Amino acid sequence: MIVNVLAETTGEEIEHIVGIKESELRAHAKGNASRTSIGIVGGERAAQPCTLVSRECKAERTVVEVGDVRIGAEEIVVIAGPCSVESRAQLLTTAHAVKRAGATMLRGGAYKPRTSPYDFQGLGLEALRLLAEAHAETGLPVVTEVLDTEDVDTVAEYADMLQVGARNMQNFALLRRLARTPRPVLLKRGPSATIKEWLLAAEYLLAGGNAQVVLCERGIKSFETEMRNTLDLAAVARVRELSHLPVIVDPSHATGRRSLVPAAAKAALGVGADGLIIEVHPDPDNALSDGPQSLDLAGFARMMQSLHEPLRRIARAADAPARIEDLACLTEYGSMCDLP
Ligand code: PEP
Ligand code: MN
Repeated sequence: MIVNVLAETTGEEIEHIVGIKESELRAHAKGNASRTSIGIVGGERAAQPCTLVSRECKAERTVVEVGDVRIGAEEIVVIAGPCSVESRAQLLTTAHAVKRAGATMLRGGAYKPRTSPYDFQGLGLEALRLLAEAHAETGLPVVTEVLDTEDVDTVAEYADMLQVGARNMQNFALLRRLARTPRPVLLKRGPSATIKEWLLAAEYLLAGGNAQVVLCERGIKSFETEMRNTLDLAAVARVRELSHLPVIVDPSHATGRRSLVPAAAKAALGVGADGLIIEVHPDPDNALSDGPQSLDLAGFARMMQSLHEPLRRIARAADAPARIEDLACLTEYGSMCDLP
């Protein structure tokens, strides 16, 4: 790294920079009266990306608090609600029903990332107000997607957690902006993102000052067309080896079919997911977005019953608290950090 210093910088100040002993860095100054450059070498290890998200950096698991819900702690967290907020009645009916069935957080899209510009784009601010009302009525903390850096403050005013959608996982301007909000962030995996790219996207948030990050596997693109996406279950287990951040699974977008959601949800808990995010609609056949993958209210209640205590216990037992010395992945971890 070359640091060019201002002409008025004193010799003493230059010596101070050159004298940096931390982070295995070595520095030397070169120049004349009008211009000085300081070359800094070494510290490759300290300069490696993905340090903050890694278990190498932080062995104990991060618990993200969203209101009184703790993601990454003992309890499996279930976030449920409609793909899009469509009306007051639709949202409040769903919010009360998912709460009765055992969900601990509410989801609902206000700004929708639609493939076609002619599809329903979300109710925007009106939806945010409805989400805040649903939160006030049910006590369920709310997560909703933010698409645009310009909307971050407004969304943060109404929602308890901000979602970065799959299509925006590498929107670095948005990530940098979200790093400066006081709200926790739900970071979905991009449809074609590798685990490395996903964790480095999370690194933007941590490096920028927001350590309250939850990862979400929501299926990736593959040759298979029978499902909307391919649920990468091993990625959930792998991310738990590599990172201290909580990771949840979205079986709705991963499968695109409501019939597959309960099975995919169970599988997700089996590989150690810290929670689920599920699309639920009172009338899925008439939903304005993602109807085919949305459970109806009774279907969600049945799924919650089927996930009941035994499975939750199995999921947690399979995920006995990892001790740092047990993490074989740490020796392999070097290679993950050897990014081009
Ligand atoms: C959603 O949660 O409704 C959504 C659009 O998800 P994803 O970004 O994973 O496609
Ligand atoms: Mn959706």
